[in-house]
Amino acid sequence: MAKQIIKEIECPNCKEKAELKMWDSINASLNSGLKEKVKNGTIFDWQCPHCGKTARIMYPFLYIDMLHYFMVWFGAEGQCDPELYQSMDVEEYQFRNARTVNELVEKIAIFENDLDDRALEIQKLSIVQAIYRRTEGGKTGPVPGLMLFRQKQDEENFLFSVFFQNAPAQMMRASMATYHQIAKDISDSPSLAKGIEDGKGKFQTIDFQWAKTAIGILGAQKKS
Ligand SMILES: [Zn+2]
Repeated sequence: MAKQIIKEIECPNCKEKAELKMWDSINASLNSGLKEKVKNGTIFDWQCPHCGKTARIMYPFLYIDMLHYFMVWFGAEGQCDPELYQSMDVEEYQFRNARTVNELVEKIAIFENDLDDRALEIQKLSIVQAIYRRTEGGKTGPVPGLMLFRQKQDEENFLFSVFFQNAPAQMMRASMATYHQIAKDISDSPSLAKGIEDGKGKFQTIDFQWAKTAIGILGAQKKS
């Protein structure tokens, strides 16, 4: 069960001691207020009762969505206490790690849209690689350092936020047809369908690094 933890912290500004309220898990299906706070990042906002200054204080928690059957552990890999989900029937659930707020919010957006994050990570990596080639490795234009899934734009396209190191961020469209092809390739590949990182515990990290490994495996399978 979710419980609120109260910790005494020192205000980063006035150095006075004050309370910080944290959650060990957030059940989005039972608490829509907390769900919105996670999605807009305000869950980490803290205000000092002494000096009134606000600070962003991160802490680990398990995000649970019973409607779309997924859990995201926001914390150090492998550190999620199984007690947090032990009382639940988790047969159908997908378990993911998120190390940054961006990743956490993105995973929620992906699973709320009933999409496959593995296919989207591969699609994002393919787009970045294509831009890299087209710009001769960044010589003739910026190469994205980060791409985040935002939403379905229409029946044929997804919208991604794209971040560059030396250029303003922008929105980019990507084809849903490509996504469906990648999702099919994944389901046709037993090792990928099962999850490359099965051996590493319940929560999987599906990110760019995972996509690199996955592209290698899919490429080798296509050749053989
Ligand atoms: Zn203060």
